[in-house]
Amino acid sequence: MDSVKPWLRHYPVEVASTYEYPKHNVARLLIDSAHTYPEKPALHFMGKTLSYKEVLDAAYRFAGGLRELGINRGDRVAIMLPNCPTAVIAYFGTLMLGAVVVQTNPLYKERELAYQLADSGSTVIITLDLLYGRVANVQDKTNLKHVIVTSIKDYLPFPKNILYPLKLRKDGIKITIPYSETVRSYKELLQKSVPVSLCADVEPEQDIALLQYTGGTTGISKGVMLTHYNLVANAYQCKYWFYQTRTGEERFLGALPCFHVFGLTVLLNQSMLTAGMLILIPKFEVDEILATIARLKPTVFPGAPTMYIGLIHHPRAEAYELSSINVCISGSAPLPLEVQERFELLTGGRLIEGYGLTEASPVTHANPIWGYRKIGTIGTPLPDTEARVVDPDSGEEMPLGQIGELTIRGPQVMKGYWNRPEDTASTLREGWLYTGDMATMDEDGYFTIVDRKKDMIIAGGYNIYPREIEEVLFEHPAIQEAVAVGVPDSYRGETVKAFIVLKPGADLVERDLEEWCRKRLAAYKIPRQVEFRDSLPKTIVGKVLRRQLLEEEAERNDKG
Ligand code: AMP
Repeated sequence: MDSVKPWLRHYPVEVASTYEYPKHNVARLLIDSAHTYPEKPALHFMGKTLSYKEVLDAAYRFAGGLRELGINRGDRVAIMLPNCPTAVIAYFGTLMLGAVVVQTNPLYKERELAYQLADSGSTVIITLDLLYGRVANVQDKTNLKHVIVTSIKDYLPFPKNILYPLKLRKDGIKITIPYSETVRSYKELLQKSVPVSLCADVEPEQDIALLQYTGGTTGISKGVMLTHYNLVANAYQCKYWFYQTRTGEERFLGALPCFHVFGLTVLLNQSMLTAGMLILIPKFEVDEILATIARLKPTVFPGAPTMYIGLIHHPRAEAYELSSINVCISGSAPLPLEVQERFELLTGGRLIEGYGLTEASPVTHANPIWGYRKIGTIGTPLPDTEARVVDPDSGEEMPLGQIGELTIRGPQVMKGYWNRPEDTASTLREGWLYTGDMATMDEDGYFTIVDRKKDMIIAGGYNIYPREIEEVLFEHPAIQEAVAVGVPDSYRGETVKAFIVLKPGADLVERDLEEWCRKRLAAYKIPRQVEFRDSLPKTIVGKVLRRQLLEEEAERNDKG
């Protein structure tokens, strides 16, 4: 068996290859910690803390409020909130009823919001007063029956610069909410409701806890069905891998958004499972994050590479006391080596690269924190996670070291896509999740992501993986960020175009860049087109929106 799972030989001694994961409602993560540590701080937000008992009581009340609105097991409840206590309370309250959480990005434009609410069939949404207008404008295109509105006033004092992701109306007009039978105040709902007990009917392996729409960096957004068991198993897998011995002691820096599954699992669920304190940060601002680390001394800081990049480039980063940081897990995108090294020097903590995708709740791989890590790889599969590199068409396993599609099997793998049986059938084949990522595995069982299958550029018959080019560009001392994409070319079919953001004050001309690449890349991989920009369009977790760059490119070509 070990011959196909070579990574097991390199597992840290404290980690077993297999565990039993509890089969229960995700809400039990909160309930169990609240019973053991009622007075411990569960959440920290804007200078205030809420104890486990307070969060639990509020979640039961929220569940009671939803019940009065007619919500039952299986009904979909959308949450459109930035990181704040209400987002946590609404999440657990919804799950307690056996209803399904639909996480909605507060930055969504009306078109995206209407699509997601209609596709999921959400009947209730909870949001902030400042976002209410957007919900009201799309309501008739959806099945929404009730809107629950929470106010920023609930979180006062609320410094102006933290109004993420909101833009206050410049004209200073006060937002008035037309409260009614169908538009409810969150505060009142909580005050008037009768708390309910945990829904006893939930079947953790069957019932969906979360409908999480995929990032949408490529193609049409689909609802990923994650069961209670999927989410609980992944929280435990991460705990065994990352935080084994420190229950009741960790402080989590909640900079990742909890409406994204990465933040949901490695911050919210993890923090509740390990009875930690979750510091909720509604907007990632480097100054604010540095000050928060110095003041509140978090020990765990999961993030995306762009967050760590922002911190190491801050001119006064060294002036802050950052030594409380112990464990950092980077995911969502490749972590450049230089960033890892500089961040570890700055904080004295360990920053390791992991990997995951929404369809796997999301974490499947990571380097061990204290064990044998290999820089540049995504590490090994977590306990009870199997991974293979296969031929994308035949599903045959590739020889060691060769590039193929990464496939995953494990308790965290989704049930399927919501209402899309064909997509489910092509993505879940014989129990294996086809990730759409091209990867290799080495003789130690460490995996390296080569690129996304869809991002591959085919120029003059050659397969080119943008990531290889990006790594070369990134190594250039003048370059802060770089992305390579394939653009149409009448002769080669496609050719490589690089979008580049320079470091502040740096200077670089196209000819010198070409020279740099020529020394390091085969001729067919050298970007034929280069565009310098001030910034790159990104998703909320810092993934570059390649699709947007391509669309802008196409638009320009149509006009030109
Ligand atoms: P999402 O479902 O939005 O979380 O996106 C998942 C995708 O992010 C994966 O399929 C990968 O393409 C990418 N990804 C996640 N972690 C990494 C990593 N460490 N290196 C490279 N790509 C990653």
